[in-house]
Amino acid sequence: MTAPVAAARARQLPKLADPDAPLLEVENLVTHFSLGSETVHAVDGVSFRLNAGEALGIAGESGCGKTTTALSLVRILPANAKIVGGSIRLHGIELATKSDDALMNALDPVRRIRDQIAEPIVVRLGVPEREARRRAGALLERVGIPERRGSAYPHELSGGMRQRAMIAMALACDPAILIGDEPTTALDVMVQAQILVLLEELRRELGLSLILITHDLSVIAETCDRVLIMYAGRVAEEGPVRAVFGNPRHPYTRALLSAFPSIEADRRTLEVIPGAPPDLRNPPPGCRFAPRCPFVMDVCRTVVPPETSTPDGVRVACHLYPTAEEPA
Ligand code: SF4
Repeated sequence: MTAPVAAARARQLPKLADPDAPLLEVENLVTHFSLGSETVHAVDGVSFRLNAGEALGIAGESGCGKTTTALSLVRILPANAKIVGGSIRLHGIELATKSDDALMNALDPVRRIRDQIAEPIVVRLGVPEREARRRAGALLERVGIPERRGSAYPHELSGGMRQRAMIAMALACDPAILIGDEPTTALDVMVQAQILVLLEELRRELGLSLILITHDLSVIAETCDRVLIMYAGRVAEEGPVRAVFGNPRHPYTRALLSAFPSIEADRRTLEVIPGAPPDLRNPPPGCRFAPRCPFVMDVCRTVVPPETSTPDGVRVACHLYPTAEEPA
């Protein structure tokens, strides 16, 4: 089973380095994978901020770096991956260089659900086992699983129930941020809607921030305040959901939205993005979308597009949008 829900535990950190800092600040994050003698440039200069109580959706095609970005945040990368640059600050505290300041939970198939939820409460918070098991039962009830079902093993629960159990595990240590990696994938639409409602309720009640990684733009439109569109390891566009989806600037964002089915649109009008994402062992210089972009210019093939900020709060990295003039 994958582990789609993780939590960053800001509240257990000893003290805030900067109480006025955004909850999470990621700057120029670079994460590489080693494949034999080759290097995969999976995440290349990703920056974003997350404020308290905010929900950020990260979208893009498979292999665009969205999951690697999330795994970098919680420092649970595979053995052949490494953060090689940039900064991850939680409440102003640098995490990119810390050894273990993050948490990821996945269900262990041979342990009962309640035990798995109680364990981090004992280990991380130092709560006595009896009280931890009581809290685990309450968390199960809170996410919609009857407390008595805590004695079940993961395989005895439905897909939706397992997803709820993982959310309960993520909440066990009073997190500040929930990170959901495709939390609704493989669920039918009714269960998907229930999980999204649950995440929204938890966000409101517990004041959590949320990072939602999904290829499903409608999930982001429904759930998130801001959206970050990634392409080939870089940020293509980021901003408020309404601004980005209502007026997409980056050609890749436009293509992604055109390729996504809408309940109002005629399915025959769906477009396909021609070509395939680049091989990140040897990405093209300049704009990585250039080989697929209908607006490509000479400059795109050689110069990495700088980010431009628009008046409605969107950042876009594309040569179609020149940066502000340098003062003379
Ligand atoms: Fe297309 Fe050039 Fe913009 Fe890249 S920088 S998206 S190639 S117009």
